[in-house]
Amino acid sequence: MSATVLDGLKIRDEIQRELETEIRGLKSSGVTPGLAAVLVGENPASQIYVRSKVKACESLGLYSEKIEWPASVTTERLLGLVENLNSRNEIDGILVQLPLPPQVDTRRVLDAVDPAKDVDGFHPMNVGRLVAGRPGLVACTPAGILELLKRSQIPIAGARAVVIGRSDIVGKPMALLLLHQHATVTICHSRTRDLPAVAREADILVAAMGRPAFVTGDFIRPGATVIDVGMNRLATPEEVRRVYHDASGPLSKLESKGSVLVGDVQPEDVREMAGAYTPVPGGVGPLTIAMLMSNTVRAAKLRRGRDTGVGTAA
Ligand code: NAP
Repeated sequence: MSATVLDGLKIRDEIQRELETEIRGLKSSGVTPGLAAVLVGENPASQIYVRSKVKACESLGLYSEKIEWPASVTTERLLGLVENLNSRNEIDGILVQLPLPPQVDTRRVLDAVDPAKDVDGFHPMNVGRLVAGRPGLVACTPAGILELLKRSQIPIAGARAVVIGRSDIVGKPMALLLLHQHATVTICHSRTRDLPAVAREADILVAAMGRPAFVTGDFIRPGATVIDVGMNRLATPEEVRRVYHDASGPLSKLESKGSVLVGDVQPEDVREMAGAYTPVPGGVGPLTIAMLMSNTVRAAKLRRGRDTGVGTAA
């Protein structure tokens, strides 16, 4: 039996259609949710991310503002900007695109964002709410993965879930979301002993490591659901040959596109071993921006006391 592909693009479209209806309703009562995206410096990846976030706002009819500042900016000036955005009523969500330049105290800037407008879910207040299973804003990538699992009818309650990676942005919030859905959760990291054996216990395996194709067939219990969060670019034929068993297709992609995108999971092995899996690209990636839009709409509702509780941590 061949593995089911969990199609992130299809689920993203589904979420966006639901959001469109919600946004129309809010607009008819005089509320247009608004997102401010702060971009500092000229990092090309950050520029692409912010552009796609602003574009997503526009296509859904949300208000958006892109604020671009030079890489020489100081922590104090950014704190002033965040304070100003906190005070503006038409701004419901504030997104500070990371990484910030080295002279900036990133933690101070992120902590200055009003927790009610923290659409990335990074503020300690929202992290605490997530830990306690109370309504709040949850980090977009793990929130998107939970939507994907639920909408694909993957059973979570009682399942053994293994999350590889313990970052504040992906691994930790992912583990908490799965725990609140009653999975039995193990979190792995670079010091975990015998990682393949631990991973093989998983009914749901989430790989969020940033290591190209690290998770091979021997990590995957036959029939498991495998979620690949990784986004790694391979830029040389040697790298491509190291990752793929049959490298001919990826090598011609490398030649025509200049690089090949691969996740943290070996793409040929996962097709063979998993019951269901997210491809890279087209799996987890598209859901991250959809959940940012969803968080912006939720923030607008929460701030006006209109939230229905949908999308809460618990
Ligand atoms: P990160 O902050 O670098 O964290 C990586 C985690 O993986 C760490 O906890 C690290 O363990 C663990 N790890 C690294 N090597 C390992 C190994 N050999 N064995 C076991 N664990 C290992 O990365 P992140 O921000 O969570 O991102 C992870 C990946 O997801 C990246 O490829 C990133 O590009 C991608 N990502 C994708 C999206 C999306 O929208 N699709 C969003 C965010 C991130 P230690 O803690 O012990 O160091």
